[in-house]
Amino acid sequence: MRWFVPLLAACCAFAQQPYDLVLKGGHVIDPKNKLSAVRDVAVANGRIAAVETNIPASKAKRAIDVRALYVTPGLVDIHVHVFAGSCAVGEHTGELGVYPDGFTLRSGVTTVVDAGSSGWRGLPEFYEHVAKRSRTRVYAFLNIVGRGMSGTPEQNPAEMDPAAAADCARRYKDFVVGIKTAHYTGPEWVAVEKSIQAAELAGLPVMVDFGEFVSARPFAELVTKKMRPGDMYTHLYLERVPMFDANGKVAPYLWEARKRGVLFDLGHGGGSFIFRYAVPAMQQGFAPDSISTDLHTGSMNAGMKDMANVMSKMLNMGMPLDEVILRSTWQPARQIRRELVGHLSVGAPADIAVLRLAKGDFGFVDVYGARMKGASRLTAELTLRDGAVAWDLNGLASVDWQKLGKYGPPK
Ligand SMILES: [Zn+2]
Repeated sequence: MRWFVPLLAACCAFAQQPYDLVLKGGHVIDPKNKLSAVRDVAVANGRIAAVETNIPASKAKRAIDVRALYVTPGLVDIHVHVFAGSCAVGEHTGELGVYPDGFTLRSGVTTVVDAGSSGWRGLPEFYEHVAKRSRTRVYAFLNIVGRGMSGTPEQNPAEMDPAAAADCARRYKDFVVGIKTAHYTGPEWVAVEKSIQAAELAGLPVMVDFGEFVSARPFAELVTKKMRPGDMYTHLYLERVPMFDANGKVAPYLWEARKRGVLFDLGHGGGSFIFRYAVPAMQQGFAPDSISTDLHTGSMNAGMKDMANVMSKMLNMGMPLDEVILRSTWQPARQIRRELVGHLSVGAPADIAVLRLAKGDFGFVDVYGARMKGASRLTAELTLRDGAVAWDLNGLASVDWQKLGKYGPPK
């Protein structure tokens, strides 16, 4: 019976410590579950195990003190460009894209959607070489253009094949969350119409970057007639968007489009966010449904920077923090119909961001280089992906080296 004693001991240890990790004392913002209050969050086997007012530290193998910090679902950024690498050299796809893990987890982002870098021709390569190998959860809006976001072919309607795109979307249904059209300069509606055809065949939403705004296909018609409820227009605060009427009021057609169920994504990017649009529009209540970065090589070191910086801009323009979190987590998750992410329900994957809201003198820059001062800045302290520490700015999850004795590599 000697074997029985250690087994029993192991059993009891397991019963006493049912959780792998507990985040203690943070202010939890979980918009899906209408929670914004101080709570402890426990994780077991990569999933959210409990969200309660007091979960004893002794019940977890590791307790992390996150008092004075915000605990939110892992952020969901639905407009990025992460089809990086040698693929499509000399074209937009490879040159503008960045590998996701270098720019996501350190900003609290655990889920991204690549916005049309790849069409049906390149999607298998994108999936195999980038998405599958990333720690970040990566989804794709499939470009209606077979060669994807690749310069000249984007202008060729013959490269827009709704049947091929829909077929690809169906084959990669766990990866493709929608269809994207972008950068089209011609006077016809062909890029938008073929995208919607593909989306209808595949049962998916569309994300529209309207490209060149030309009078033959008015933007107002796009959002009030062409786009369907649940479709997303990205680059809300782009200068080309006819945002205001002669009196400086948000144009009535925009309210009408929103009432129809058309969604407006921020899509900051390197050229699509100016304060002289964003500030008055937000003062009048025309905020983006989803907050996204449009991360690429042209935006990451300019005014955009990263998701936490873009969220900080929203905060400093007057959006309450709970709303900022909603529009960076649960709302975009719903827009891409991936409702497993973007919340902290018990049983959900433990993708979690722990954010610091610092107060001080900060500055934010738009895509034309204009500055807005602000008193608040969000940064990511800690990011968990499926319950594992994926980013830890100040070592909150680690033990002080002087307490560890003769320590070695982590097991
Ligand atoms: Zn983009």
